[in-house]
Amino acid sequence: MLSIRDVSVRYGTTTAVDHVDLHLAASETLAILGPSGSGKSTLLRAVAGLEPLAHGSISWRGNDLAGTPPHERRFGLMFQDYALFPHHDVGRNVEFGLRMADVPAARRRARVREVLDVVGLAGFERRPVAQLSGGEQQRVALARALAPDPRLLMLDEPLGALDRALREHLVDELRELLDVADVPAIYVTHDHDEAFTVADRVAVMHAGRVVQVDAPAALWRRPIDPRVAQFLGFGPTVDAIARDGAVRTPWGVVPCGAPTGPVIVVLRPGAFAVRDGGPVTGVVRSHRFAGERVVLTVDAAGAPAVDVAVAPTAAPPDGTPIALALDPDAVLVYPRDS
Ligand code: ADP
Repeated sequence: MLSIRDVSVRYGTTTAVDHVDLHLAASETLAILGPSGSGKSTLLRAVAGLEPLAHGSISWRGNDLAGTPPHERRFGLMFQDYALFPHHDVGRNVEFGLRMADVPAARRRARVREVLDVVGLAGFERRPVAQLSGGEQQRVALARALAPDPRLLMLDEPLGALDRALREHLVDELRELLDVADVPAIYVTHDHDEAFTVADRVAVMHAGRVVQVDAPAALWRRPIDPRVAQFLGFGPTVDAIARDGAVRTPWGVVPCGAPTGPVIVVLRPGAFAVRDGGPVTGVVRSHRFAGERVVLTVDAAGAPAVDVAVAPTAAPPDGTPIALALDPDAVLVYPRDS
């Protein structure tokens, strides 16, 4: 559907988007994930036609969009905070794009009814948006983006301004709504949990470049380099040497496929489990509650501290000696030059 080919966008001497290639299939939700300043919004704005391309092309079903102004692209946008008009009712908010396009009143009303139905807010036309819950406001924002019947939806950190608990709840809902709406979507976020929940595939950006595109499970399984792994919250990261099909880590020797030479070892979250008599010994330094689990930080002898999650009832007090086992599958080994 959408093809982004070798696209660069510059602001003066800053290259905000650097030779990006991305393709979006029908009905697919693609997340663009990266730290602040990595070029995510600029790429989205380029797709919307709001930024000129310094290089490359963006096409829809094979047709180059270079000569198509933003309002003729039929791409819907949903921003952080939803940018709803607080003093208008739901109907007036949802029909905004239709008014802009001079759609006659009767057709506007019918379409508003239709999209409110899609997002589960049938009959909400006359409700003031200021009186809606966060979840309902999100649905109104989505209904507004859907009303002009866009062929692509673009969501730029739509949940970025909300607190974590609400975000976790709404992201599940958003995923369902996107499935029901059956429109391809690009979802920009700096939060990997959000990207994993909402997207079929995730494109990771760093310094203007797309460094990896994968399904969430594949991305979690094998981040392409240590930097992407760290961005996903993996760690600790240590330098080591691979030799004869194994790597000597500070937590023991682990088999690996890397050729002999210097490597970088990154541990996936959950790499350790408490195991009586386990080979890695240490002392519980601190603990924190994480919902159903308690995460212990353990100082292992001569090695960087590691986290291990346990059931709250099994959490020993700080200062307790503890033995751990390392899951070799959770040890990621990269050549040093990656
Ligand atoms: P992200 O969305 O990942 O936070 P942006 O696309 O906003 O990143 O920004 C990418 C880079 O482009 C950053 O270095 C940012 O400072 C720069 N940039 C973004 N918008 C502008 C602008 N209007 N003028 C100049 N530089 C900009």
